[in-house]
Amino acid sequence: MKVAIVGYGTIGKRVADAVSRQDDMTLVGIYKVTPDYEAVAAAQKGYRVFAPREKADAFKKIGVEVEGDLNDLASRADVIVDATPDGVGAQNKELYVKLGKNAIFQGGEEADVAEVSFNALGNYEKALGKRYIRVVSCNTTSITRVLSSLLLNGYKIRRARVFITRRGADPKEHKKGPINDVVPNPATVPSHHGPDVQTVLEGIDIVTLAVAVPVTIMHMHMAYIELDEAPSKDAVMEALATTPRILLFETKKGYSSLAQIIEWARDIGRPRGDVWEVSVLQDSVTVRGNELYLMYGVHQEAVVVPENIDAIRAMYRLADKWSSIEKTDKSLGIVT
Ligand code: NAD
Repeated sequence: MKVAIVGYGTIGKRVADAVSRQDDMTLVGIYKVTPDYEAVAAAQKGYRVFAPREKADAFKKIGVEVEGDLNDLASRADVIVDATPDGVGAQNKELYVKLGKNAIFQGGEEADVAEVSFNALGNYEKALGKRYIRVVSCNTTSITRVLSSLLLNGYKIRRARVFITRRGADPKEHKKGPINDVVPNPATVPSHHGPDVQTVLEGIDIVTLAVAVPVTIMHMHMAYIELDEAPSKDAVMEALATTPRILLFETKKGYSSLAQIIEWARDIGRPRGDVWEVSVLQDSVTVRGNELYLMYGVHQEAVVVPENIDAIRAMYRLADKWSSIEKTDKSLGIVT
């Protein structure tokens, strides 16, 4: 499958690298609007760079040869992964439709940009054969993985309440804040994350609240989940531990904060120190009757990357759910 990446920022560059690692996909190029260090790095990796025609000279000045514009790139691809800023994907969709191309959008777009909102564990089958798929946001992806882990292990969820501490900005975003504040983000309840989870796990009773804090490394979720039955803590641990893309981190091994989880990823040589898995703080997993409590970290830059790969496979029916998840995880080095 020939894949183009439009929007080569935090998410786009990671998805480009992930596509390059698949034996059933080829990266035909990336589209970038700014002639900067990221464009240089893409060219150094051997990626074909596409940009607006009027900027070709500016790209050339920093040593990047532009192979064509958005239209040229989209025409060469079977499917476009659009990872542009919130709302731009919906505008680009017009072109993709005109060219008869399939597209994957990201969580910053409204749900109606696509035929289905996607999470591999949550609803892979619903995306089979679809031409337009939206991979939900990092927060929604992570909540959906945790809830899916329980559902797939036979638990019935009465209600989920998730309190989200959002990172204020990604590490490279030097102009974003807050730098000394805690900002309700949004101030209203529920935050958009709960309804977004419902676009994947229909009918689930979920309410989310969110604040942004002066941190760039990860989001932290504090979750309260009420089940139909009283599970044993061991059984819940087992469910989480055996679910792909969820990892447990124990305090006794030195993981007492999210920074240490990122450090682990850097120590083991992961690209960019990425943590593709939902990072559950094992000591937080607590069962009281039918109430389950847990805290987990969400590496916002990385967590949706494997979902983009699986969304492409579902779109073209290249593999069934579990084969795709396994193939993606093996190719990236995701710990299972
Ligand atoms: P980003 O700002 O890091 O990257 C977007 C890239 O698109 C930039 O390189 C920008 O120059 C480029 N761009 C801007 N306008 C464009 C246009 N008209 N055509 C082509 N490219 C254009 O953004 P991001 O954080 O990678 O977010 C991309 C999408 O992924 C958004 O929908 C976002 O909500 C979603 N998402 C972001 C995160 C995160 O934490 N960063 C996590 C999950 C999902």
